[in-house]
Amino acid sequence: MAAAMRLFAFPLGEPLFRKRPCLRTAPAWSLVWQNSVRPNGSQAVYDVVVSGGGMVGTAMAAALGHDVHFCDKKILLLEARPKKTYNELPVNYSNRVSAITPGSATLLSSFGAWDHICKMRIKPFRRMQIWDACSEAMIIFDKDNLEDMGYIVENNVIMAALTKQLDAVSDRVEVLYRSRAVGYTWPLHYQTSDSSPWVQIDLADGRKLQTKLLIGADGQNSIVRKAAGIQSIQFQYDQSAVVATLHLSEATENNVAWQRFLPSGPIALLPLSDTLSSLVWSTSHEHALQLQSMDEESFVDSINSAFWSNAHHSDFIDTAGSIFRSAVSVLMPSGTSARQLPPSVAKVDPKSRAVFPLGLGHATEYVQHRVALIGDAAHRVHPLAGQGVNMGFGDIACLAHHLSTAAFDGRDLGSLKHLLQYEGERQRHNLSLMAAVDLLKRLYSTSLAPFVLLRTCGLQATNAVPPVKEQIMAFASK
Ligand SMILES: Cc1cc2nc3c(=O)[nH]c(=O)nc-3n(C[C@H](O)[C@H](O)[C@H](O)COP(=O)(O)OP(=O)(O)OC[C@H]3O[C@@H](n4cnc5c(N)ncnc54)[C@H](O)[C@@H]3O)c2cc1C
Repeated sequence: MAAAMRLFAFPLGEPLFRKRPCLRTAPAWSLVWQNSVRPNGSQAVYDVVVSGGGMVGTAMAAALGHDVHFCDKKILLLEARPKKTYNELPVNYSNRVSAITPGSATLLSSFGAWDHICKMRIKPFRRMQIWDACSEAMIIFDKDNLEDMGYIVENNVIMAALTKQLDAVSDRVEVLYRSRAVGYTWPLHYQTSDSSPWVQIDLADGRKLQTKLLIGADGQNSIVRKAAGIQSIQFQYDQSAVVATLHLSEATENNVAWQRFLPSGPIALLPLSDTLSSLVWSTSHEHALQLQSMDEESFVDSINSAFWSNAHHSDFIDTAGSIFRSAVSVLMPSGTSARQLPPSVAKVDPKSRAVFPLGLGHATEYVQHRVALIGDAAHRVHPLAGQGVNMGFGDIACLAHHLSTAAFDGRDLGSLKHLLQYEGERQRHNLSLMAAVDLLKRLYSTSLAPFVLLRTCGLQATNAVPPVKEQIMAFASK
């Protein structure tokens, strides 16, 4: 893994969690508050409640549970779905996978989850080739020193690793599965004798809890976000993503992530093993449904044709692109990497095809007094850059850092002072990334000649300037 990438993943110049020995060895709260409602009927008060135990919420709870400054804090994770246990890894790969950046791997390593992932199932990739279906333009990201650029991991594997690490701190983090939060009551700005200073949480089964800090990790339709009255800019794209597990025609080293921009949307082939790759094909809703329901042979033919066919090329763009490429290679002779050919697909895993509608969402605020949003609850992005859960892991690294410092200094965890620092840092990063991804989606959703020419020249010029590519990689790896 890139040592340099790890450094810029946490630019604050401090380790993720500062170490100070915890004075208390056995957290007394775990004996007292294993049940959220105490025997005398009063409500348990948690220091932190994470609402939503997907990849991001579970990682947040595990990160805090492993932080030495939280050893005397009461943490609760609420998850509406039942606990998934994985005694043995299924033989068949799951169709839901994520491209994980080195920055996210560093976060997951900081509390021990990455080791579990590496022992289960993971495929590193060393190169990314991205090219245009309407021209010869392409960009290649790779590393001279054979370092990993990223990792393809099944979401189930990430969840299994996180759950294992959460179980390891069960004396610090209480987890309520099958527990849906249905309402939140916010503390008043001014206190009256009968008002609570904490956030009150109502569960679907009638239980009530209180917390000094509520972290909303409850996904794109976040109830925390809505209940807090936080506005979100949202729209649906005209595309759905088709995912599937694919068998390659022949075994290869398979360490390249491929993506081709078709006018209908990008198609990506992500390596899983020497013989298997995962498909993420974003296309119009109608086409996605056709792809999902067509017979296996036609589906495989459609994928191969999407990667190989030059039906969208035109002589004008090819000639202009080739003149521009020659000029660039004269100016930057060492800057162009050799094009590789993607592997061809032989068959699809039965029942692995699924369709997901795509959209964009961004909360105008990530925090309020005693509330913070992380992951898809705060932002939702098109999967073409494989950034959604990585942005969520970046939120965790940042929020956990500020909370750890606040706990170390004995400050109120729900105070806006450090929550606003989290918001500022993450919005700066997430907004620029989302804007770039949205721009790419729009720029490549057309086959109109002026736009094709613009992106052909832009892509070739970027490909020819290694420092620019390194900047892009560094930013996207955070
Ligand atoms: C096709 C596709 C491909 C993708 N590929 C990538 C990729 O390669 N790389 C990448 O970084 N990202 C990728 N993403 C994005 C990534 O999957 C998401 O960003 C990520 O799953 C969001 O995780 P989350 O934990 O924030 O939200 P979710 O996964 O939505 O989890 C929210 C959790 O909260 C729980 N919950 C909801 N409401 C309540 C409630 N009221 N009470 C209690 N619990 C509640 C839910 O049960 C759920 O478990 C992809 C997305 C798609 C659609």
